[in-house]
Amino acid sequence: MLKKLALFAVVLCLTLGVSLAQAAPDPLFNWAKTPTTLTFYGQSTFVLTHGETRLIIDPWLTGNPWKVASADDIDVQYILVSHAHGDHIGDAAGIAKRTGAKVISTSEITRMLAGQGVTNLHPMSIGGKWNFEFGWVKMTNAIHGSGVAGGQAAGFIINFYGKVIYFAGDTALFGDMAYIGKANLDYALLPIGDNYTMGPEDATEAVGLLKPKKVIPIHYNTNPLTKQNPQDFKKMVESRYNIPVLIMNPGASITL
Ligand SMILES: [Zn+2]
Repeated sequence: MLKKLALFAVVLCLTLGVSLAQAAPDPLFNWAKTPTTLTFYGQSTFVLTHGETRLIIDPWLTGNPWKVASADDIDVQYILVSHAHGDHIGDAAGIAKRTGAKVISTSEITRMLAGQGVTNLHPMSIGGKWNFEFGWVKMTNAIHGSGVAGGQAAGFIINFYGKVIYFAGDTALFGDMAYIGKANLDYALLPIGDNYTMGPEDATEAVGLLKPKKVIPIHYNTNPLTKQNPQDFKKMVESRYNIPVLIMNPGASITL
């Protein structure tokens, strides 16, 4: 009987050992362990990374007064463009042609970029959602000029390896941000510069509608007309809601 029990224990240990050994290389396990980072380049330019996957939003490096990086330093597989003003579409064509990155933007902008020799393009329209290798992108409304004939300015909800980020683009405050907030946002990237977009007061109202876990202010201090103290915005938001505001210096990175 004891011999039988001992044999059973050995078999059990071997079986468990094999199954534990098989569990180690589980791709989901490794996926969760890989950090997702966000780097700010000033104005509205961000890079998201996860392992070897890199995505840039509104790439404006050439002429960006923060001078964090040169467009030649950017190596990405995806480029998101919210609208065709120079401080957003900026270096999109150049980076796309050099790296072969896929440009995700409105139909009007992808058509314009095709005319400039960009070939890897994914056109979308406001309200549409599409799955990509990194997660998904949903294009949202933005109240702003499009910079291209017949087009509309956009924002994006981006699910990047499970982190949900709302990039408002350049926009005024609008009530439908309450619906955008239903996506359970981890981060909201909101313009606070005023004059061309929401200012700090309206951006504070936007936080109340979006209810993200964290807020990052963007689109300020690049132009005499967008001069702001982001600390004032932080104080306003944090005194009204239990939501932290992260002020990112251009060039800074955070792990999401
Ligand atoms: Zn702008």
